[in-house]
Amino acid sequence: MARALVLEEKGRLALREIELKVEPGPGEVAIDIDTVGICGSDVHYYTHGRIGHFVVEAPMVLGHEAAGTVSALGEGVTGLSVGDRVCMEPGVPDPRSRASRLGMYNVDPAVTFWATPPIHGLLTPRVTHPAEYCFKLPDHVSFAEGAMVEPFAIGMQAAAKAGITPGDTAAVIGAGPIGIMVALAALAGGCARVIVADLSAEKLAIAAAYDGIETVDIRERPLAETVAEATGGWGADIVFECAGAPPAYATMFDSLRPGGTAVLVGLPVEPVPFDTNAAIAREATIRTVFRYANVFDRAVALIASGKVDLTPLISATFPFEESVSAFERAAEGRASDVKLQIKL
Ligand code: NAD
Ligand code: ZN
Repeated sequence: MARALVLEEKGRLALREIELKVEPGPGEVAIDIDTVGICGSDVHYYTHGRIGHFVVEAPMVLGHEAAGTVSALGEGVTGLSVGDRVCMEPGVPDPRSRASRLGMYNVDPAVTFWATPPIHGLLTPRVTHPAEYCFKLPDHVSFAEGAMVEPFAIGMQAAAKAGITPGDTAAVIGAGPIGIMVALAALAGGCARVIVADLSAEKLAIAAAYDGIETVDIRERPLAETVAEATGGWGADIVFECAGAPPAYATMFDSLRPGGTAVLVGLPVEPVPFDTNAAIAREATIRTVFRYANVFDRAVALIASGKVDLTPLISATFPFEESVSAFERAAEGRASDVKLQIKL
């Protein structure tokens, strides 16, 4: 039995003992968890009990963004040692699946992902995981930063999918944790200018504190107008949708240059319409992002290089014993909160 933050059912959390696997099998390691970030999806399972066709039907441990220390090695593990500090990629695909063999293991229908029903997450002191989905953290990268690698990996995947050319101008719709991390990955990937749009002044202020990020409050001015001014009327090379908000899709292509690329990251709750003719008139390329594949090592490398600093996005850290309060605060959705973390 182990102590864990358990989502008993929609709207009901408990920090309690639960039966969990703690001994590593062949190819696996055990990890003593240090820090866990709270993701919008964890909160959505808490408040709604489901995301799309994933429904919480039995008590489930939450959490999938974490870093910790390797504490035991299963049979046959090479490349990791007890005491290594690591962050973990939460999704484990079937390596023999067709999607895996095509290099897009993130869309393997058989992937199992922490805190996606019925798989338990990692808000518990000790978990097991395949060694090849654990990534060493250099000594100067903190556990708190290590726990930011998972959401930053979404930004890395989005930047890679965008096919950035050095000097590009990008627009990012939404300044939540994902939008800001997409903006930072786009800058690291070679964008000269990144314009981030939101309707929350607090969120925009947090984004604007980064060099290279310009912001626009869409309550005051449409994004397309700001982008037109910044690009001499041409439009952004890339538009990243990171809000998942229906009004954003309706106008997204107005900010895009002819031949530009729109990258869909946000997951709207319901299907949303968008302006097909605006996309076609530009011969826009539309790319989509589902989690990430093969980016964790590069995400860690960028953080370790000092080129990307995610620490300003950590708004508050709660002790493990206060996990339920941490989730209540996350569910409030305070405008000044970007990422809340729990320290074990
Ligand atoms: P969030 O809710 O914290 O942030 C969304 C931001 O968008 C908020 O700051 C909000 O004020 C802003 N917003 C709302 N309507 C807007 C509009 N019309 N124009 C501009 N900004 C607007 O969410 P998050 O955690 O940052 O995640 C963003 C989206 O990415 C969500 O839809 C989430 O489900 C999705 N997501 C996708 C993946 C993936 O693999 N594709 C992974 C993680 C999250
Ligand atoms: Zn997440």
